[in-house]
Amino acid sequence: MISPVLPTYARAPLSFVKGQGPWLETETGERYMDFGAGIAVTALGHANPVLIAALEDQARRLWHTSNLYEIPRQKELAAKLVDASFADTVFMTNSGTEAMECAVKMARKYFSATGQPERVRIITFEGAFHGRTLGMISASGSEKMTAGFGPMLPGFDTVPFGDMEAVIAATGDETAAIIVEPVQGEGGIRPASPEFLRALRAHCDANGLLLVMDEIQCGMGRTGKLFAHEWAGVAPDIMAVAKGIGGGFPLGACLATEEAAQGMVAGTHGSTYGGNPLACAVGCAVMDALTAPGFMEEVQTRGSQLRQGLESLAARFPDLIEGVRGIGLMMGVKCKAPNAELVGEGYAAHLLTVPAADNIVRVLPPLNITAEELAEGLGRLETALGTWQKKTGSAGA
Ligand SMILES: *Cc1c(COP(=O)(O)O)cnc(C)c1O
Repeated sequence: MISPVLPTYARAPLSFVKGQGPWLETETGERYMDFGAGIAVTALGHANPVLIAALEDQARRLWHTSNLYEIPRQKELAAKLVDASFADTVFMTNSGTEAMECAVKMARKYFSATGQPERVRIITFEGAFHGRTLGMISASGSEKMTAGFGPMLPGFDTVPFGDMEAVIAATGDETAAIIVEPVQGEGGIRPASPEFLRALRAHCDANGLLLVMDEIQCGMGRTGKLFAHEWAGVAPDIMAVAKGIGGGFPLGACLATEEAAQGMVAGTHGSTYGGNPLACAVGCAVMDALTAPGFMEEVQTRGSQLRQGLESLAARFPDLIEGVRGIGLMMGVKCKAPNAELVGEGYAAHLLTVPAADNIVRVLPPLNITAEELAEGLGRLETALGTWQKKTGSAGA
């Protein structure tokens, strides 16, 4: 018999009733170190007092009006995002997928509005994840996500990630834009090289294309810069963010330059809840925390600590770990045996991690984790690896 919850997830037999910082607690009071952060969502940890205060304060005043009216909190958050980024304007959504849908609509509208309506095709990359709407599964083109859901939305040309020659070969008279994750998340913590991002920018400029970045997972401080593309020194024309921006409250945003957004006039796009006062109150508090002086430096310091810790575990367990990759607090451990086994041993050691494609175990702690908490989590990962090693019968180093 089907469960009351549509069974689209193979869930771990774990449930949590409260959280504090990087800790989650079960009903029976067992504590787990959360190195997944709800897939890079709870950027400032669980039950963060500043976010609680922002949400409670807004909840007592006003929950919802509509985008038919001005929403002061939405304006405030948009201004913060504009101030801190390449963008001139922002559309708020409830999720990452919707922010990407807005990005694709905006890119196509730009060419229709500027007299090149034939330019509708968009280049995307293998291993990409842009969300689960029909549009976004079409964009990623992955068989796993699209099987049985056809027909797909036409207009996407998928090429190998990092392959500039394939991008050039796929560019034609109908090409409008390129969509790239500066660090692929679901695809297995695969960072685009700074050279590749710069080459994409140059290619877009030379051919009049729009560069769209999906920073839903790698943005909002995850890599130690507010946005991951900052490491490469190039900016997109349009960018989707979500996940960390709400710290756990559903919120996403599509940021754009004035040039790229010119087709999106009144009546072209909308959302009932997007930019709702509750979401934006939390979003403002998250932005304030991430842009506070020294915050990103601290994320970078913790990122180095995490990388060193993971690399020393990789050296200690060479039969289990092939390598470590990622940037800042967005790290991936490439396993030699099935990654699900290591995630499972993590559960046994009361440590939460997240599997990804390419046999990767993702390590995504909250951005405000302390050195001691990070060390505690790494210790639990070591315990998990020790147990896993005994079970696989490998010798270790
Ligand atoms: C999570 C994710 C999405 C989808 O976001 P939702 O909020 O689940 O709709 C899109 N792109 C990337 C890179 C993501 O990590």
